[in-house]
Amino acid sequence: MSEPLVSVRDLRKVYPRDVVALRGVSFSANPGELIAIRGRSGSGKTTLLNLVGGLDRPAAGSVTVDGKAVTELPEQALLELRRDVVGFVFQSFGLIPVLTAAENVGVPMRLARMAADEREKRVELLLALVGLEQHANQRPYELSGGQQQRVAIARALANRPKLLIADEPTGQLDSQTARQIMQLIRAVVRSENVTALVATHDPSLISLADRVLELKDGAFLTPEPTPA
Ligand code: ADP
Ligand code: MG
Repeated sequence: MSEPLVSVRDLRKVYPRDVVALRGVSFSANPGELIAIRGRSGSGKTTLLNLVGGLDRPAAGSVTVDGKAVTELPEQALLELRRDVVGFVFQSFGLIPVLTAAENVGVPMRLARMAADEREKRVELLLALVGLEQHANQRPYELSGGQQQRVAIARALANRPKLLIADEPTGQLDSQTARQIMQLIRAVVRSENVTALVATHDPSLISLADRVLELKDGAFLTPEPTPA
């Protein structure tokens, strides 16, 4: 057995006014696995993904990603983790409006100081991977919602992350486009050999996942073993 890429142990998160968003969540994700995290609005999906990706800190418990103790890392190391190890996809796409599709995909590579010629090649390859080679020079407002999410997926893969975190990536898309985006996520998880955690209500993604974890009121409906 290979080591899990992600280990989450007894994670608790309490927001101000004593809102307990996670009450002891544990699971692990193996390399190459696509895990769907489902649960109604307010069940803790975003909180969990943000803690795994190092966007927020828990009240208790720990997260390890690729051997790094995320919950212990100082800010600078968290920045590097989010730049180099994790790729994020959000419901609202989060593209920079004044940049073209190609420039948006190139942003994380610039932050990682990738050489210009290598960057250009990788941007081209990623835009082709998501089916947008013809749209490299369009800005987000010149693209459909589904195309914008394709750009965001390409951008998330920019620095060859080991972990892809997608928070309701089809929440703003019509059902047919949503299905295509889910199939794209399924395909890139295979081709880029990343592990993916995807929060979704979408039955079409849930059917493509290797495993489904269901959150209810900040805990898994069926508890998972706590990783070592
Ligand atoms: P989901 O993504 O499944 O809709 P969230 O993780 O966003 O769930 O929210 C879980 C719980 O935490 C909810 O009760 C929500 O109201 C609360 N919550 C989320 N973010 C905050 C915040 N920044 N401040 C206070 N409460 C929050
Ligand atoms: Mg959410």
